[in-house]
Order: sequence, then structure tokens, then C-alpha cells
Amino acid sequence: MTYLANRVQGFGTTIFAEMTALAVAHDAVNLGQGFPDFAAPTFLKEAAHAAIAADLNQYAPSYGRPALKQAIAAKVKRHYGLEVDPNHDILVTHGATEALCAAVLGLVNPGDEVILFEPFYDSYVPDVLLAGGVPRFYTLRQPDWAVDRAELAALFNHKTKLIVVNTPHNPTGKVFTHDELGMIADLCQEHDVLALTDEVYEHIVFDGRKHHLLAQFPGMAHRTLTISSLGKTFSVTGWKIGWIMAPPDLLAAAFRAHQFMTFCGAAPLQEAAVTALSTHDDYYMALTHDYQQKRDFLVKALQDAGLPPITPAGTYFVMVDISDLGFSDDVAFCRYLTTEIGVAAIPPSAFFHHPADGAQLARFTFCKSQPVLAEAAARLQRLRSAK
Ligand code: PMP
Ligand code: GLN
Repeated sequence: MTYLANRVQGFGTTIFAEMTALAVAHDAVNLGQGFPDFAAPTFLKEAAHAAIAADLNQYAPSYGRPALKQAIAAKVKRHYGLEVDPNHDILVTHGATEALCAAVLGLVNPGDEVILFEPFYDSYVPDVLLAGGVPRFYTLRQPDWAVDRAELAALFNHKTKLIVVNTPHNPTGKVFTHDELGMIADLCQEHDVLALTDEVYEHIVFDGRKHHLLAQFPGMAHRTLTISSLGKTFSVTGWKIGWIMAPPDLLAAAFRAHQFMTFCGAAPLQEAAVTALSTHDDYYMALTHDYQQKRDFLVKALQDAGLPPITPAGTYFVMVDISDLGFSDDVAFCRYLTTEIGVAAIPPSAFFHHPADGAQLARFTFCKSQPVLAEAAARLQRLRSAK
């Protein structure tokens, strides 16, 4: 006898919760779940304290606090030159996770097809299934994770409602190029398809690369919903302040679902988010610089340990190729690494609809303090003697 409704029967425990529990049980250095282990910026914590002390402790408006919507619009104008109307084009949500779910539930009808790039972030498929939609997959392949136009075009048809584009991309670290986004924009227009972009790592892009907004491509403004959040950029993943930017008719669809899932996000944290988004641009440069150093450190440590890394262009994740290590699959490797070597990683098969496509990969995160990364590097050396 199960009490589970049919719609959630296929949803197991997330791989992030599972690997973090295993890491804790074995006292492993957790390079699995992507959450910073270092302090959030002091100016941000002070802003949150001040908002609570000032008694901004009741519901926020369901579309979000006006000051936050203004701060989001101002930041987007400053960084990308994009004009967004704070009163009509922005919906504040409980993190990007809710934004994605609300948008999909608000836009996708049973039977509609949704194109997803795999490996995918783990909430996309459940979102589409909850809406009764049908996921169609484009498989990104290592080492460059490039998008082939003909292969992508073959997924579009009259049932396609939406394509989800995550750039910078978790878990590969790919940053979609200008040409690839242009190709996606062309296909969306040719087939009258909407686009949903997940840009939560927009400020973690390396080696002088640029993050491009699909919404800024010709013909895309009126068919794109752009999602981002505060968690990665300001090292506050537990705050769950996210947002959707979209034209009012698309935003209204997400809003219908949003109002009955959460109604609104945490009011005092929305107020603190105003301070975050109004910060000086030096903050973003320092963030990229720090993460690039951490990336370089971990990439070298992985190489030295005999784990061939695929250097990421963005995000705080790095994939390694485990095909020559002699493990049956990524799950066996990640369990061994966590329990025997003392370093936790994520098995990427959880991010593919055919798990076998991820069986030769493992994902590590470098959003950790330097001593923790150094400890992980030392422990990974044990792999050499263990073999
Ligand atoms: N999308 C991607 C690609 C992510 O990596 C994450 C981080 N967990 C999210 C969405 C969710 O973001 P949030 O914590 O703001 O809900
Ligand atoms: N985004 C984080 C990751 O990819 C984890 C998010 C979560 O635990 N739900 O590791």
C-alpha cells in the first residue's frame, strides 16, 4: 500500500540529498552538493538583520517587493543593457527552483513537448511531468558539449511548446556560445516555441568569456522567460530568492501557479536582496576571480590524482571522465570515493534520461573554502596508492 499519488511515484530522493547524507555519515569532504561552505557577505547579512529588526516580517506582495523588482531591473540594465519594466516584467519567486516549476506549470499543457538539454538540472524533468508535458532530450557530449543544429532541429515539431536553456550549465560547466544561442533563437522562431532560460550562474563565467541572454536575441524578447536567483551570486543558497523576467503575458502564466505554491518569498530577505543587487560591480569581478582560482586549483588536483577533468567555462562544477578507472559506473565510483577516499562527488547519471549516458562521468564542486579544497586534494592523492 502506498500513499503516493501517481504523479510523484517516479520521483526518488534527490541525488544531492543522498550524497550529502553519505558524505556526513563517512566524514567525507563534500564536493558533491553545490553550496558554499564559506561565510555569506557581511553587508548582506547586516541588511537581512536590519530588515527583520525593522519589522518587514509580513507577507511580501505576490509579485515581489517593489524595491526588489526595481533593483533587479536596474541591475539587468547595468549589466546587459536590457530594459525591463519593474512593474510588469518581473516576478519574485522562492528561488529559481520555484520559478522554473511555476513557469512550466503555467505554460505547459498535457501532451505539450518540452526540449531539455541533458545532462539536465534535476528539477526540470519532474516540473515537465507534473504539468503532464513530454520531455524531449538533446544530449550534450563531452569534451566540448557542443550543440549540433541538425540534431537539435530534429527535436522541434508542432507539439513543441518550450525549450529550457541553462547557461552557464550545471553540471557540465558549459557556457552556451553566441552562435549556439542564435541557433536556438532561430529554431524557436521558426517553430513558434517559447524559451525558458535558467541563468543562476550568470556571474560565474571564466577566462574572459561573456554570458549572453537569449532574451536579447532578435525576435526573442516576447517569447523568453529569463530566470535567475541570488543563491550562487551572493553565496546564500538557503535564502531562496529567485525571479522571472518576461513580458506580462508570459509572466501572468507563471504567476497563476506561483500564487498557489508559495504566494510570496521571504519578505525580509527580499529587502536584503535589494542591498545585494545594488552592490558595486567590483563585487561580481571579485566573485569570478575567486571562483576561477578555485577552479584552477581543483582542476589541477583532479589531474594530479589521475582523474581527467573537463575544464568548465562557467559555474562552480567540474566534470571528470572516469572511463579508464575500472569502475562499473559513476554511482559505484562516487560511493567508493565518498566511503573509502573521503571525498564526495555527484554521479551524473542522475542528470540523464538514459543513466548509462552519464555512467563514465563524475561531478565535483569547487564552491568551498581553500583549506577544504586542499584537504580534498590531499585525500584524492590516496586514489593513486589505492589503485
Ligand atoms: N538551476 C540550476 C542549474 C541550479 O544549479 C540551481 C541550484 N540549486 C537551481 C536552478 C536552483 O536555484 P535556487 O536555489 O535559487 O532555487
Ligand atoms: N544546485 C545544487 C547542485 O547542483 C544543489 C541544489 C539542491 O540541493 N537542490 O549541486
